[in-house]
Amino acid sequence: MQIYWLKINKIIEETTEVKTYLLDRPSDFTWEEGSHTHFALEGFNAGDKPNRSLIRHMSISTVPDEDAIGITTRIKEQCSEFKTILKNLEVGNKVAIFKTHTNVPLKREGKNIYLLSSGVGLATFRSLALDYFKRADNVNGIHSLNIDSSKDFLFTDIFETSPEKKFTSQFVDNRKDYYEEVKNLASDKDGLFYVVGSDEFIVQNIEVLLEQGIKAEQIILDKHEQQLTEFLSLDMSKVD
Ligand SMILES: Cc1cc2nc3c(=O)[nH]c(=O)nc-3n(C[C@H](O)[C@H](O)[C@H](O)COP(=O)(O)OP(=O)(O)OC[C@H]3O[C@@H](n4cnc5c(N)ncnc54)[C@H](O)[C@@H]3O)c2cc1C
Repeated sequence: MQIYWLKINKIIEETTEVKTYLLDRPSDFTWEEGSHTHFALEGFNAGDKPNRSLIRHMSISTVPDEDAIGITTRIKEQCSEFKTILKNLEVGNKVAIFKTHTNVPLKREGKNIYLLSSGVGLATFRSLALDYFKRADNVNGIHSLNIDSSKDFLFTDIFETSPEKKFTSQFVDNRKDYYEEVKNLASDKDGLFYVVGSDEFIVQNIEVLLEQGIKAEQIILDKHEQQLTEFLSLDMSKVD
């Protein structure tokens, strides 16, 4: 397994609580849209076993064309040890990434794609949107729906409705509007529905989509195979 120790190149304050860490991109490192990685802090591999409290899964919010690896995360005042350390890192400090993989590539099947996300979950979809803007082949159109109760919506320069690009972006700040809109979107019985957010959010979205007649195989989650089966059968007793 290759571990890349990378310098923080820039820290972008997206909103009061959300930051994007742009890391130097090694010349031999590339990734697909929708990828996530293991993002680790100094000392994570100092002992016999990796120290899990210093490692988190994070999506890569940038695309290779931007020539930087972007990690976008929310850091609240009350936060974990991991985020407390992260919050204090500065440009020039090093972090590690390893085991990068995508479960949610842009499916080019000639269908409409619906990107359903909550809060910083939109970070996973940023690279899908940019990949689509670069090359729209075999994608009918994209509709993004993001719920963020903070009302500090993310990436509004990219997630901007454009009829020419067949791209629609909606932001809502409450669950009622959100699920009403999910039901509207689910009237497209042939669409592909990507869902990113907390496990509770994912389960609720799956329930609504299935109820509306969307089939499990039309729902795409950022989960590996085994978890996917458990989520889509809504057998949450097995999900850890
Ligand atoms: C495939 C995948 C991709 C992911 N991509 C991303 C991504 O791109 N960006 C991202 O941010 N996350 C992503 N995650 C989730 C990420 O791995 C973390 O689980 C998440 O960011 C929470 O981090 P944390 O555990 O450090 O907790 P925190 O974010 O610090 O805390 C979680 C919650 O607990 C509360 N809390 C924590 N500590 C305390 C305390 N001491 N006292 C009171 N309240 C407390 C916080 O206020 C917060 O509401 C991804 C996960 C997966 C599986």
